[in-house]
Amino acid sequence: MTRMKFCGISRSEDVAAVNELHPDYIGFVFWPKSKRFVAPARARSLKAQLAQGITAVGVFVDAPVREVAALLNESVIDIAQLHGNEDDAYIQELRQALSAPDAKSIVKAYVVKGPADIEAARQTSADMPLLDAGLGGGSAFDWTLIQEFDRPYMLAGGLEAGNVAEALSRTGATCVDTSSGIETDGVKDATKMCAFATAVRTWDEANRTTHTTNTKKELNMTNPRGRFGVHGGQYMPETLMNAVIELEEAYDRFKDDPEFKRELATLFDEYAGRPSKLYFAERTTRDLGGAKIYLKREDLNHTGAHKINNVLGQALLAKKMGKTRLIAETGAGQHGVATATAAALMDMECVVFMGKVDCERQALNVYKMRLLGAEVVPVTTGTATLKDAVSAAMREWTSRIADTHYCLGSVMGPHPFPTIVRDFQAVISAEIRDQMLEREGKLPDAVLACVGGGSNAIGSFYHFINEPSVQLIGCEAAGRGIDTFETAATIATGRLGIFHGMKSYFCQDEYGQIAPVYSISAGLDYPGIGPEHAWLHDIGRATYVPVTDEEAVQAFEYLSRLEGIIPAIESAHALAYALKLAPTMRPDQSIVVTLSGRGDKDCVSVARYRGEELSE
Ligand SMILES: *Cc1c(COP(=O)(O)O)cnc(C)c1O
Repeated sequence: MTRMKFCGISRSEDVAAVNELHPDYIGFVFWPKSKRFVAPARARSLKAQLAQGITAVGVFVDAPVREVAALLNESVIDIAQLHGNEDDAYIQELRQALSAPDAKSIVKAYVVKGPADIEAARQTSADMPLLDAGLGGGSAFDWTLIQEFDRPYMLAGGLEAGNVAEALSRTGATCVDTSSGIETDGVKDATKMCAFATAVRTWDEANRTTHTTNTKKELNMTNPRGRFGVHGGQYMPETLMNAVIELEEAYDRFKDDPEFKRELATLFDEYAGRPSKLYFAERTTRDLGGAKIYLKREDLNHTGAHKINNVLGQALLAKKMGKTRLIAETGAGQHGVATATAAALMDMECVVFMGKVDCERQALNVYKMRLLGAEVVPVTTGTATLKDAVSAAMREWTSRIADTHYCLGSVMGPHPFPTIVRDFQAVISAEIRDQMLEREGKLPDAVLACVGGGSNAIGSFYHFINEPSVQLIGCEAAGRGIDTFETAATIATGRLGIFHGMKSYFCQDEYGQIAPVYSISAGLDYPGIGPEHAWLHDIGRATYVPVTDEEAVQAFEYLSRLEGIIPAIESAHALAYALKLAPTMRPDQSIVVTLSGRGDKDCVSVARYRGEELSE
């Protein structure tokens, strides 16, 4: 893997950002003329805040040997990076001044103007040479000068998120060093750090690992310790840590197990009805007069939505772990019904937590869950809605880890849930890719999906994340509009926070409390977004757009009339944006819209929205 160094760290805020992203090295600049200078005392206090496993490097320009040695011996830094006219004699003298020379390293920087500089770097007696464009000038040198440099080396000079992949492709450097590339107006910028780290890790996936057919495994390498950039993680009470660790270990064991994969594939095929169809919406395409519209028909799955993909995967995993009982949270009841379905199929006990208010609003789903053999526990705490049901399910899990698996319903919650749920839903994009290649002979130009927690969207995006020609668009529920309080559009209106075990974006009030959210669509009515989406948004790989109730209802009616398909009101949000996008594109281009579910369940509320009361 490519090593990364973030240089010129000088503030506590920088260290906090660094700790989240975990580069291999950070640099303290001890050269008094630098605008990034830090005094040794300041470096000592910053070093004390640094996460384990990140190595501090000191940057010097012709400093007295004893000053450099003192900082190394005191372990304020473990590596000295020399940027002046230090020669081999200086390096030797420095080594001799160290109390534990084997534990410390010396890097010597060379400003590359021509082949002679490369040759000097190759011959240095330092532990590693650094090839640089100049002293913090922020510009790159001619990388073609480096040809088959035959020892490990660091590369610096003008590196930033936008060019680091090209730099690595041209030079194959061991370590990339950046400073001005992660700054805005001379100050370190956490978003740019995140983008840089992501660019390096993405390049690594494609270039540093031996290619296997298992892209899932390779992509997981962007996700060290359950992080997606700064998002994700495990923000859990101590009492739940054992449960998530047990789950992570079991998932790591089974996810590539041929027997597990075969059993899941059979369930998908014979029980859920996969692969789901990719339908060319010809009338819609003709009516809009632009890109071809394809619909990915998750609505045709057993139980009528994509949620079955996730629950079958998790129930099978739970069974392999020896669990006999599934618990779940549910808001509108869709995930509760899906979980109760899987539990019935696999002969497991099932308890579903549902806010009391939601139980009353969704009596039909409560009946279905009971019919399927599940117990429904009405939750009366808090606002007696979804977020309280999540808390109740987590509490229950704490007290019965031995026989119980918590079947979480979307790509949210603490690691490993966002990864597990994504992997089970990724079947959607794997199928879209194959079906589009068969139908069109090329990948789609855009993939659209609605985003509640984000599971059908990440499932639709996943296999296209490394295909830059495919635009990825997540459609959030704007409710009555993003400038009103009645909205659930997290990317448009939310802020960074920690809730339900993860760091991500959440709709919050002015005090940082989770804000009440609203949408006509119960499935999109969640105040957060999965951490991988937050990251895809940060790095600009996916775009998130708000879609109002009114636009979604119009799309719901439009598709029913034009194609004879009543989509879930959630899915109608994605469709609504496709209706705007398609006419701006060429007829040889194509858009895939994931129809996450069918709309029978929504007829009563859409009729009411239009002023009509339906009764049985
Ligand atoms: C639950 C649900 C959603 C929202 O969940 P995600 O995790 O964002 O996919 C979307 N569509 C339908 C039909 C649903 O049932």
